Amino acid sequence: MNQKAIAIIPAGGTGTRMGLPYPKQLMPFRGQTLIEATLALFEGIPTYVPVPLDHRDVFESLIGTRAQVVTGGATRHESVRNAFESANPHPNTWVIIHDAARPYWDPSTLERALAAATSHGALIYATPATDTVKWVDRDTVEKTLNRDRVWLAQTPQIFKASLLRACYDATPDPMATDEATMVEMQGHTVMVFPSSIANKKITQPEDVLHLQSSLRMGHGYDVHRFDAGRPLFLGGIEIPGGPGLLGHSDADVAIHALIDAMLGAAGRGDIGQWFPDNDPSLKGIRSTELLARVWADLSVSFDLVNADITIQAQVPKLAPHTSAMRQKLAEIMRIDISCINIKATTTEGLGFIGECQGMAADAVALLSQRRSI
Ligand code: MG
Repeated sequence: MNQKAIAIIPAGGTGTRMGLPYPKQLMPFRGQTLIEATLALFEGIPTYVPVPLDHRDVFESLIGTRAQVVTGGATRHESVRNAFESANPHPNTWVIIHDAARPYWDPSTLERALAAATSHGALIYATPATDTVKWVDRDTVEKTLNRDRVWLAQTPQIFKASLLRACYDATPDPMATDEATMVEMQGHTVMVFPSSIANKKITQPEDVLHLQSSLRMGHGYDVHRFDAGRPLFLGGIEIPGGPGLLGHSDADVAIHALIDAMLGAAGRGDIGQWFPDNDPSLKGIRSTELLARVWADLSVSFDLVNADITIQAQVPKLAPHTSAMRQKLAEIMRIDISCINIKATTTEGLGFIGECQGMAADAVALLSQRRSI
């Protein structure tokens, strides 16, 4: 657990601009809700989520033990302050404030951002403006700002707890609508940490459509023959009693079919091209490792909408194991379990499967390609 930081993720916004009848943070996103996807970015960091009082129960049951739900205030600023008071962090703790609707933030940048924040105790993620910025009075341009000096603020905003405490105690200007503005208005220096425009805030339905613009489907099929001398690995778990399957890797036929379905959807070839069966470094490798490698690559551009795997095996009986397999695959891919389904069937004694010579698996996968920006 990261002891040196806490996160505050205000989830008080309504769904009005998204045309939703419920808070935007509860909208479906990558097989879970938006707030859950954003929370997952802060795994290992104690997190506080201020929410509207009338939705507190919903958020509490959804978030469970992943974060501390606290009652928010009338404004975002008040909500963050309420969370800060509940957390009551040590003065040296970093307080990371992040929008619930920015699920595309890259957490691998956090260590560098914290290091950069050290000099002034306050830092915001921001991107340089790419459009020319006009200062407008009603409907006429008053002046053109020097674009080189215009940056667009994002979150996270990061502050030393002692600095936030001092600013709150000094009665903040009501015009300060966020913490960075409050800190600036009280004369402190706020660092800018260059971010990416991919760290987009979801405010309009188009934001989701743009970022998840294209759906692509793929199919995978794999067969391995039985080898009673080997352990049986299927869907990422070991199934006691076997019989095992013969292969260069652990011969996990279900994972191989899933990998091929996802590679097919992505237009990225097949498992044999990625992991040749004459590569000595792959001998005996667990297919969970192959899946992790493939998904690490594909997940840069794709989300898995869902995958469905059918394992064909006469023996052993697989139904008792399919939920553990789903759990394992969801864990490896860091996705919600509802995105993966696994079924098992016999072939009623027919064919090579029915004669217990081996197993086969089919998989289909639907990927959603994020717009490259
Ligand atoms: Mg195979």
